[in-house]
Amino acid sequence: MIRCRPTLPKGKQQFMLATRIASSLGMALVTLTTLATPSRAQTAATDPGQTRYERLPGLDQRLIDTSADPCADFFQYACGNFPKLYPIPRDRSAFGTGTLVAEYTAHVLEGLLEKAAGGGPGRTPNEQKIGDFYAACMDQDTINRKGLQPLQPDLDRIAALKSKDQLPELLAYFQLIGVNAFLGFGEQQDFKDARKQIAVLGQGGLGLPERDYYFRKGEVPEKTRAQYVQHIANMLKLIGEPEAKAAADAQAIMKLETALAQVSLDITSRRDPKKVYHLMAVSELVTLSPAFGWDRFLGASGAPPVSELNVSEPEFVKGLSRLLASTDLDTIQAYFRWQLVAAVPGYALPKALDGEAFDFFGRKLRGQPEQRARWKRCADATDNALGEAVGQVYIAQEFSGAEKQATVQMVDDIEAAMNRDLDTLDWMSAETKTRAKAKLHLVADKIGYPDHWRDYSKLTIVRDDAYGNVMRATEFESRRQLAKIGKPVDRGEWDMSPSTVDAYYNPSMNDINFPAAILQTPFYDPHASDAENYGHGGAIVGHELTHGFDDEGRQFDGNGNLADWWTPEDGRKFDQKADCEVKEYGNFVAVDDVKVNGKLTLGENTADNGGLRLSYMAFLADAQRKGIDLTQKQDGYTPIQQFFLGYGQDWCGATRPEQLRLQVQTDPHSPRKFRVNGAVQNMPEFGQAFGCKSGQPMTPVNACRVW
Ligand SMILES: [Zn+2]
Repeated sequence: MIRCRPTLPKGKQQFMLATRIASSLGMALVTLTTLATPSRAQTAATDPGQTRYERLPGLDQRLIDTSADPCADFFQYACGNFPKLYPIPRDRSAFGTGTLVAEYTAHVLEGLLEKAAGGGPGRTPNEQKIGDFYAACMDQDTINRKGLQPLQPDLDRIAALKSKDQLPELLAYFQLIGVNAFLGFGEQQDFKDARKQIAVLGQGGLGLPERDYYFRKGEVPEKTRAQYVQHIANMLKLIGEPEAKAAADAQAIMKLETALAQVSLDITSRRDPKKVYHLMAVSELVTLSPAFGWDRFLGASGAPPVSELNVSEPEFVKGLSRLLASTDLDTIQAYFRWQLVAAVPGYALPKALDGEAFDFFGRKLRGQPEQRARWKRCADATDNALGEAVGQVYIAQEFSGAEKQATVQMVDDIEAAMNRDLDTLDWMSAETKTRAKAKLHLVADKIGYPDHWRDYSKLTIVRDDAYGNVMRATEFESRRQLAKIGKPVDRGEWDMSPSTVDAYYNPSMNDINFPAAILQTPFYDPHASDAENYGHGGAIVGHELTHGFDDEGRQFDGNGNLADWWTPEDGRKFDQKADCEVKEYGNFVAVDDVKVNGKLTLGENTADNGGLRLSYMAFLADAQRKGIDLTQKQDGYTPIQQFFLGYGQDWCGATRPEQLRLQVQTDPHSPRKFRVNGAVQNMPEFGQAFGCKSGQPMTPVNACRVW
């Protein structure tokens, strides 16, 4: 998921290789107005202002563009009418199937948060926290009246810096409150021994979305950089710098960040676990990077004493040492002011700062015309800060045992399909197959919500302090993560809240995770046919499972350890097959002259392709078990056609060009159109189901197949 301004410590986000199903499904929400009620869609709730929150059915005939040829462009066929029915609202940079679900879920959250906010003295401790966090966020008047006052103690800490010798303690403090100036520090499972939890130190400190933003040539990237420098200057002015100093500081900060970017590892390389794993003694770190007091940094970091850690990008740490030695204190202080104000979520800042941040990161970078409604931002923020407290109320109200049971059945079917798929592979040796099956049998299925809820009792949430609340919540989460170092791994832990419309696989845990909010229609619709549900939700289950066996996941064994269990010959064959997808997707043009990055998206594309095939196999087994007649049409489509339409309609929607460019350059997920067409064109069964001729766009003669 892309978050231009993360509100939770980057520690976990940055250092985990977990792969999600979606890029930005649950990120932002939208208001729907005057839409006709679809025949099978349910209108779930009504706002006083006539806002409607719709739920799509498993297969939505309204979305199908029957004038399109499914063999030429299946995305257009399955989803062609979606943007006409649901145009991208002004408060979104993209809008699709998942956004509708996220929108509905936000509306549910709003109801329970409003209730908790108004609940009075009888509230449970968790209701007090989520209610007051939400209320403080909604209270714009108090936030505006306080102005810069809440930031002042942190600005004072920066101003008090008298020499570079004092940097370690300040940087350690910044890490705790989510300011990733100069570096990132956190906790991870040891890649080579997943039973161990260790400290990790890595690159950080950039304000633009990714290191290549500092170097790409061409009109758009150069304009973005100029706008970025102007944005830094505007923010510095808004926190009190005189205009000329703000302009000069912005230039110096850009120079400093560019130098940091120069020694940063690119986003594609960072997907390779071997390239971001360098376990070393603290003494080795000190030798590598002598210009910084690492012992003092670690001592102040909130982590227990450590003798070794993963220095994920040693070249960066080396470069950082040189850069700290050569940069003057005045520039470093200006950089800290900028990094601080950029790290605070906009809703907790006074209006002018919030608006300026949105203008650059929302309007210019993503092409989003307007901010989202306050309540939507606050519902999201509360879930970010207190996800498992919100989750308990959400689960009690929204999630039934029936949804869980149906998902358990689907997951079992799809894991059985993978077992059969492995048997049929002609390119893999018996030896590697045995090991692949061993890994498959160790995959842990986590469905809905955690068995044990997180304890927030030590986190203080105050009703009139939006800034303090988010900073304390961030520090609470940082300390919770760091406290894991040296302790046994809790395999029951979740990295997503139950109300997140998303799913993930974590290679160190070897688990697949489906939060309750993704187990709702249309991804799982109790009224839909099995074909529709396997196409929708089944493909998502298959996607996460396949992540355990994509170019990244396959490097980890069933216990979550980075250990090569492949014969060299099978490893070479895997790479050849994966390379077919790298080239195939790398030729898709996303926007203007910007093509999909075939290497960056390889893991997600492999998961989409594998997930679709596994779910297809599971559906066929299900149909046989239940005696479903595969030739019998319903609403004009055979069950197999319904299956593929269900899959296609997972990804309906449209994306603004600015957002599409950002996505292609920063997100390991392919744009929605290629998630559909790329996957079906690699499956001959699709062409057969729709009567396509060989050589048509969706039935190429040289289709790719990994799994
Ligand atoms: Zn994925």
